[in-house]
Amino acid sequence: MRRNATQVKRWTTIFLTAACMLGATLMAYAKDPTGPALEAGAAQEMDGPAAPEEENQAEEAQESQEAQDGAVSDGQETPPQPEESRTDGLVLSGGRYLDPNAPMVALTFDDGPYAPVGNRIMDSMEQYDGRCTFFVVGDRVASYQAEILRMYQNGHEIGNHTYNHKYLDKLSAEQVRNQVELCRQAVASVTGEAPALVRLPGGRKNGTVLANIPYPIIMWNLDTRDWKTRNASSSIQSVLGGVKDGDIILMHELYNASGDAAVALIPALKERGFQLVTVSELARFRGGLQNGAVYYSFGR
Ligand SMILES: [Zn+2]
Repeated sequence: MRRNATQVKRWTTIFLTAACMLGATLMAYAKDPTGPALEAGAAQEMDGPAAPEEENQAEEAQESQEAQDGAVSDGQETPPQPEESRTDGLVLSGGRYLDPNAPMVALTFDDGPYAPVGNRIMDSMEQYDGRCTFFVVGDRVASYQAEILRMYQNGHEIGNHTYNHKYLDKLSAEQVRNQVELCRQAVASVTGEAPALVRLPGGRKNGTVLANIPYPIIMWNLDTRDWKTRNASSSIQSVLGGVKDGDIILMHELYNASGDAAVALIPALKERGFQLVTVSELARFRGGLQNGAVYYSFGR
């Protein structure tokens, strides 16, 4: 999210800078009392007329300051930035346009990374303009760096599923913090960015867990039980039988049957009018996220 917003800002800045330079050149033509003869304009450009260049630099400085201001204010959850919005209301996110007012669901895959299944899921997601969230286990990350990079670069979300998949309600406060921080570091060592969201192994929590995780905690409201059934048809039915706008759907990345279910569900959900979004995208259009809070879904 933040990375994509930064990319958009960077391109916007480049575009505006180019527009300023073009504008300065046109002003140079306009200010030339001899008229906009091609040779005169070209000569002026080569000589570097002082006034237009200074204006250009001033505008560039202003643009740069505006970009900086935007970057600072984008540090926490913010409403969609103007340059990402189109007149039709669609918003650029994750490399495709989303309709904030149309139905959307978040498919989430725990316990990876595991490239044989994860890449199948991403192939299908990207074919149908979908993005999803992978809650990864930190001590697996180094073994699947290429897959982690694909998630990151293609607009999927990488979430934190602790370092060793320990049940956190069995651990001390310090151990809870370590499990979360070590996973953040493992992901950041590959992508340069630590995951923003945490999912608790087994969904298990207590007061110590909640007091020691200073990030949004993402549960789910639609459980496929794919890890137990290892049956694609069962997982597909559990989703299509009751899915609704704002749902967070729990699946797992480790099983071929879960991959089979995902590649069937992705076009089926799209066909039913659901946009397939990451948890952060869902939250962005449905009220936002706060550190330390626990979320099960983002219905309206
Ligand atoms: Zn898990």
